[in-house]
Amino acid sequence: MKFVVVGGGIAGLSTAYYLNKKAADTGQSIDITILESADYWGGKIKTTIQEGFIVEGGPDAYLVSKPWMRSLVHDLGLETDLQGTNPNFSSTYISRHGVLTAIPSGLTMTIPTEFGPLIKSKLLSWPQKIRMGFDFLIPAGKDNSDESLAGFITRRLGHAAYEYLIGPLLSGIYAGDGQRLSLQSTFPILREIEQEHGGLIKGALATRRVRADLAKQKSSQEKNDQSSRSIFEAPISGLGTIVDALVRQLKNSGVEMHLNSPVDNIVENKTGYLVILLDKSKIQADALVLATPAYVSGKITQKISRVLADELKQIEYASTATISLAYRKDDIPITLEGYGYIVPENEKSMVLACTWTSSKWQHRAPDDYALLRVFVGRAQKHESLPHDKSALIAIARTELKKTMKISAEPARTWVFRWEKAMPQYNLGHSERLGRIETELLNHPRLALVGNGYRGVGIPDCVHSGIQAADKLLSISQKENIYELQKIN
Ligand SMILES: Cc1cc2nc3c(=O)[nH]c(=O)nc-3n(C[C@H](O)[C@H](O)[C@H](O)COP(=O)(O)OP(=O)(O)OC[C@H]3O[C@@H](n4cnc5c(N)ncnc54)[C@H](O)[C@@H]3O)c2cc1C
Repeated sequence: MKFVVVGGGIAGLSTAYYLNKKAADTGQSIDITILESADYWGGKIKTTIQEGFIVEGGPDAYLVSKPWMRSLVHDLGLETDLQGTNPNFSSTYISRHGVLTAIPSGLTMTIPTEFGPLIKSKLLSWPQKIRMGFDFLIPAGKDNSDESLAGFITRRLGHAAYEYLIGPLLSGIYAGDGQRLSLQSTFPILREIEQEHGGLIKGALATRRVRADLAKQKSSQEKNDQSSRSIFEAPISGLGTIVDALVRQLKNSGVEMHLNSPVDNIVENKTGYLVILLDKSKIQADALVLATPAYVSGKITQKISRVLADELKQIEYASTATISLAYRKDDIPITLEGYGYIVPENEKSMVLACTWTSSKWQHRAPDDYALLRVFVGRAQKHESLPHDKSALIAIARTELKKTMKISAEPARTWVFRWEKAMPQYNLGHSERLGRIETELLNHPRLALVGNGYRGVGIPDCVHSGIQAADKLLSISQKENIYELQKIN
């Protein structure tokens, strides 16, 4: 059976990996071709190593608690290359009018579960902290309909807790607008906690107790392993290491891989799909995986199904940019003890956050230098995200001057602009996914993977690839059995 995977980001590469692995495990013989429009593999994962700096253009780590990426990394033999975030620091700050205030420690799933640090914190006023406590009294919502992330947190913990504590941590992940992001599609666990425990803080406290018990059960060997204690991990030389290893593995196992191969259009025919590239060349596939952003998948499936294409095109994406700046340590007037800071939505800044990369991760910059990374761009504001690199650097430098008082010239800068990169799981997203899945029942040899659907994090993208491989291989297996029965 011939599989074509369109898109060579982490979702496409991992789908190909699991198709290959699972087919080998079940004795199926398959061919895989991956078509990628860009001139490099990895999509949003883009690591640059230059003059002792390790710079991530897109993601810098994956969440350990979602097991799929970790398991892939172990399969690739990279487990000894991993590191967790720097254990010497743990603080992250919120920038309010350019003033940095530490987020209180003791958050479980972003919900405060240690009252000492919250009481001492200057992030919220006394009335705002008291309002958070109402969470113990407010009954769980009875209405099962979806609500916005901002609406839910505000209902439970108050407006200020959303604006200055929980909102920046949650909606920042999507570069999204909390008033529009769907609770059900982004953080359904929070709603489950409310329903099960009658309140967010009560539920988070219970979760913390369970986690503490689990941690006690862990072997002392695991306790000594720095990466296993961190919420996030990444290879010491950056996430590009994983992409390189995946590509090597796929090539060695005979997968055909083509860069600079944008797909223009796909037609369904009797034996599967005819994939038509922009240069008019064609590839026939028995089964097809679209690992492209949803709006691209919508464009190229126009001839397969108008219903599917229209739904896919309506999934909104926000454009973002990351600007990494290297400074001599002497040029930074504040001490970088922490992972960086987040800028809340209502500060009306284009800047979303700033990571203190060389503090968050060990070995990311030469000893005399600090590496900072400024995130720019939010949902619905992508029209105004400049295209020009120098304009993006200027935004980053203005921000660093305002908040960190850095006026020196950076020694080096790296700019990565990501057009329509972050999918927005807005209200109505889960209903849309329902309609997409119903339509896919009419196209059993077609799978959609990647960040547009059920999770934007790298582990979610890998998970979508595993599920697609299972779905398509089960069809291939049924056809093999049918062919064998015909021969006999
Ligand atoms: C700045 C930034 C920081 C992030 N930080 C984190 C983080 O720290 N941790 C985390 O877990 N996640 C993070 N994310 C999210 C995560 O990186 C992405 O959701 C994930 O990498 C997306 O993978 P993907 O394979 O679905 O899509 P992509 O990486 O976008 O891959 C899609 C591929 O399809 C290709 N393509 C497009 N059109 C065509 C076509 N017509 N024909 C052929 N190929 C085509 C593209 O070139 C691309 O390579 C971040 C994202 C961004 C932008």
